[in-house]
Amino acid sequence: MAIKNNNKEYERLRLIFENSPIGIWEEDVSCFAKLLEQLKKQEVINYRKYLLKNSQLVECAFKGIKVLDVNKAALNLYGAKTKKELLQRFGKTLTKNDILVLIDEFVALTSGDKIFEKEFKTQGADRKRYELWLRVAVLDEDEEALSRIIVTIEDITRRKKKENYLKRVAREDSLTGLLNHKSITNRFDEEFSRCRRYNEPMACLMIDIDYFKPINDNFGHQIGDKMLKQVAIFLKKLLRTTDLIGRYGGDEFLVILGGTEKEGAHVAAERIRESVFGKKFKLTPKVIISNTLSIGVTSYPINKAKTTKDFIHLADKALYQAKADGRNCVRALQE
Ligand code: GH3
Ligand code: MG
Repeated sequence: MAIKNNNKEYERLRLIFENSPIGIWEEDVSCFAKLLEQLKKQEVINYRKYLLKNSQLVECAFKGIKVLDVNKAALNLYGAKTKKELLQRFGKTLTKNDILVLIDEFVALTSGDKIFEKEFKTQGADRKRYELWLRVAVLDEDEEALSRIIVTIEDITRRKKKENYLKRVAREDSLTGLLNHKSITNRFDEEFSRCRRYNEPMACLMIDIDYFKPINDNFGHQIGDKMLKQVAIFLKKLLRTTDLIGRYGGDEFLVILGGTEKEGAHVAAERIRESVFGKKFKLTPKVIISNTLSIGVTSYPINKAKTTKDFIHLADKALYQAKADGRNCVRALQE
């Protein structure tokens, strides 16, 4: 459709383009076609891998991208006052992440894709981190030369924040901030299948606070909650960053020690038990409580567990034994 400058239809479309709430860019990426030719000449097979290794080549090639037009939303997103300012700046501020996105875009478009979509993070002109959703469409008539593509970039920072918050809420136990029952058992399943596949040892500890109910009874449920929270934070600090801990239920915590054999697990459990034994938990200025833990330990492969259910069952049995033996102790069960 040929539209002249003085045409009313042109004005109408121009108005839509300028006022679109999403940033729109019209670009000429014929430099992609040139880079493709160069890669073919060099008989490169895996473009993505090659370009990732030769980021200088990429940066240089992508400086050839010509921005033909942008709308107001694109200017706002990049904190530019005028088109001229944005066009001058474009390409000079490519972050590592921007380059990764451009490599993926290059691979998609030069392999014939007409649409390319990707979420990515970048740093805005205000130095803030933005999460963006990029969509690229190749115009039919410019398909071969890639001399005109339409790019839309939407700021999804707020949406991603909400999504991440909801993901975190679904994963965490609301009282202690540890992984909740579902998450820790899911992670246990993943870790166990990984260890079985690679023939690696792993261990789990089932930890239960001794005589916790009397704390609730004597000081009230709120103080009980504070105690659970403080114990949880304390336990987490005692573990390595690669260990996993979750609130299994009530006053019970499940710890997963990847790559840990029977002896190592016992040492870790004893260290935890002893640290809590010597600790005073300050719940209010006047309520300072010390408490003890009972811990059940079991470790793979000597426990011959086939499923995580078996695994947890053994740790539970060991914990029961620790309670029966007078509490404040570690007991292990391997079969
Ligand atoms: P034991 O030495 O045998 O472990 O006895 P215990 O008193 O610790 O009791 P048990 O482990 O059998 O039960 C845990 C108690 O923890 C039951 C309940 O009163 C309390 N509890 C469970 N969940 C919560 C919670 O979210 N907040 C508070 N404040 N208390 C809880
Ligand atoms: Mg208990």
